[in-house]
Amino acid sequence: MTSPSERNQKLSITPEKQGALEYIKISYPLRYGRYGEIRTPAHIFEFQPNGEIRTIAGRTGGWLTSAEWLKRTAGNDWQYFSAGGYAGALNYTGEYYVPCLPYQTNALFGTDAFERQEVVETFSAWHRLRRDLQQLDTTRLAEKQSAFVQRILEMNPQTLEHRGRRLHEIIGGPVTVLPPDCRHVEYDVIPVAISKGCLYNCRFCRVKSGRGFSVHPQQAVEAQLYELAQFYGANRINYNSIFLGQHDALHAGADPILFAARRAWDILEIGQSAMKDPRLFLFGSVDSMLAADPRLFAAVNELPFYTYINIGLESGDTATLSTLGKPLNAEKVTAAFDRMIEINQQYDRVEVTANFVIGADLPESHLPSILELTRSRLAHFYPKGAVYLSPLEHIGDKNRLLTRFNELKTRCRLPAYIYLIQRL
Ligand code: SF4
Repeated sequence: MTSPSERNQKLSITPEKQGALEYIKISYPLRYGRYGEIRTPAHIFEFQPNGEIRTIAGRTGGWLTSAEWLKRTAGNDWQYFSAGGYAGALNYTGEYYVPCLPYQTNALFGTDAFERQEVVETFSAWHRLRRDLQQLDTTRLAEKQSAFVQRILEMNPQTLEHRGRRLHEIIGGPVTVLPPDCRHVEYDVIPVAISKGCLYNCRFCRVKSGRGFSVHPQQAVEAQLYELAQFYGANRINYNSIFLGQHDALHAGADPILFAARRAWDILEIGQSAMKDPRLFLFGSVDSMLAADPRLFAAVNELPFYTYINIGLESGDTATLSTLGKPLNAEKVTAAFDRMIEINQQYDRVEVTANFVIGADLPESHLPSILELTRSRLAHFYPKGAVYLSPLEHIGDKNRLLTRFNELKTRCRLPAYIYLIQRL
């Protein structure tokens, strides 16, 4: 066992580094934005500008693979980004790396990452590093290095936990699910709640609030944005994307959406972010899609963000919708699907995507109904407007489910992926 002073001699401290400034889908690990870094012989620790730990990766043979890493979210969750066989991960999720989550979700892959010895040891290494930094003679460091170490020490585990709770307090509770499209920015979004609840409170849904739908007053949204600006502070440099919550922000209508997007741009200074290509994400429902004023999409198309709207269709089959306890029918879902295709063709900076469920115990008519929409109603393959398949609680045989997904993906005329429910 080495002593703290021996270990400290082997630390390499870099207070300011710059990674890639745009999100790229690539088969080797990329770090984004501005950060500080400490290297030990066994690990690379990265920190946000305010000193919060951001990622940890192993450097030696003891680590699972040099291409994988642990990442901490602003909500204080750790995720393990797994390469999971590049071809498989890309086919199923559209990404080279799949986030493995330490909480109950609908994930099909890498659910045991946090039980692996290497990952457990990495958390011990993080705590060891903090103890070593406490004993470090910072008078021997350059001024920037010393200030960087000080910031890291201030962000102790209690402070990090408190900050996770504070974020949830500002936005009125944890984000139980992020839109699947957030994968395009590695889920690095600032959440802004503009509404709460949803229209249907479907029986099958694991993330519903159980409340009716309501819109937050503009004054409250503006106050929330100022609190978020203070909360993210120096870390804002690394964020260029906003999630307008909660489950059906599209139903809030044009004024609340446009107000929140524009004020978020100004108050959170998205234009000053180091990251390029700002994005806006929100959820919508069949009814909010059908009721939306066409002028809303035209106005959203003019925002400085590229906007993704993810609509929960779940099935194109009335019997399945009834099994799921979703108060819709096939005609309405078809109309919303057609509208999605229309919008994707009409606006170059708005992309509507759709969710369907997949699982065991659904009527045989369910999967054909998805193909009826995503194949029969389309003349050719469209690269814009992905279709996500969200595994239900009961998936039955996993291999059978993945085979059925692959069959659907092959025939579908839109990009198709598995949807991993991820919180913030
Ligand atoms: S699926 Fe969507 S609409 Fe249905 S309960 Fe869940 S959040 Fe609400």
